[in-house]
Amino acid sequence: MIGVDVSSIGKGYGTLRVLDQVSASFKAGQFTSLLGPSGSGKTTLLRIIGGFIEPDEGAVRFGGEDVTHVPLWQRKVGMVFQSYALFPHMSVQDNVVFGLNRRGIRGEAARRQVAEALEMVHLTGLEQRKPRQLSGGQQQRVALARAIVTKPRVLLLDEPLSALDRRLRQDMQIELRRIQRESGLTTIFVTHDQEEALTLSDTVAILDRGHIVQEGAPLDIYERPRTRFAASFLGDAN
Ligand code: ADP
Repeated sequence: MIGVDVSSIGKGYGTLRVLDQVSASFKAGQFTSLLGPSGSGKTTLLRIIGGFIEPDEGAVRFGGEDVTHVPLWQRKVGMVFQSYALFPHMSVQDNVVFGLNRRGIRGEAARRQVAEALEMVHLTGLEQRKPRQLSGGQQQRVALARAIVTKPRVLLLDEPLSALDRRLRQDMQIELRRIQRESGLTTIFVTHDQEEALTLSDTVAILDRGHIVQEGAPLDIYERPRTRFAASFLGDAN
C-alpha cells in the first residue's frame, strides 16, 4: 500500500481562490476523511489527487512518486461519486467489467477479478440485474465494486453515501469500513458530515475555505478542536 501526499496545492477559478497552500498526508492503508462545509474545496482537492484536474501550484505524490502531471488513466485510482454513475442499460457484471476491459484485462482473468470484487461488496448472485432492479445501497455497492476491481493504488470517495436515506446510510458506513479494512486500500473520503467523518476514519483532515485547518485522529479533533472553525463545525462551544 502507498500513502498520498499533497504539498502546497493551489487552485483558482478566475478570481476565486479555491485551494491555497494545501499540504496534507494520507497514510498508506488508512481511511482518511476530508471534512468541511460545502464550498470549502473538498471535491476540488480530491479531483486533483485523482488527476481529473491539474493544480495551479504544488505537487501530488503517491508513495513518494511525483504524479502531479501523470494523466488520470495512469494514476491507478478508483473513484466513487455521490451519483453512482452506473450505465443503466448494462448488467451489474458488465458495469463492473467495463473498467477492466478498458485496461486490456479480459476473459477468465476479468471474470475472476469481477467475482472477487462482487464478493467483497456482498453482491454475489446479482450479476445479471440492471441498476434499476437494485436498491440505492446496492447500486452504490456496484459503484464500489467497479472502483476496486481494477486494484487501484488509492480509493477516492466523494460523498458516496449522501444520496442514501438515513438507515441505508448507516448500514453502508459499516460496509464501507469493512470493505476498506479487508481491501487495505488507502482511502480518502470526502464528506460535509462531521459525525460520519469521526465515526468512520482513522484520520480526519478539516478543510475550511481552501485551507487545511486541522488534521488528526477523530478523538483528538473532537476533544481538542484547534481553531474556532473546527470547534463550531463540531458543535462545540469552546
Ligand atoms: P466542496 O466539495 O467542499 O463543496 P468544491 O471543491 O466543489 O467544494 O468547490 C469549492 C469552490 O470552488 C466553490 O465555490 C465552487 O463553486 C468553486 N468551483 C468548483 N469547481 C469550479 C469550476 N469548474 N469553475 C468555477 N468554480 C468552481
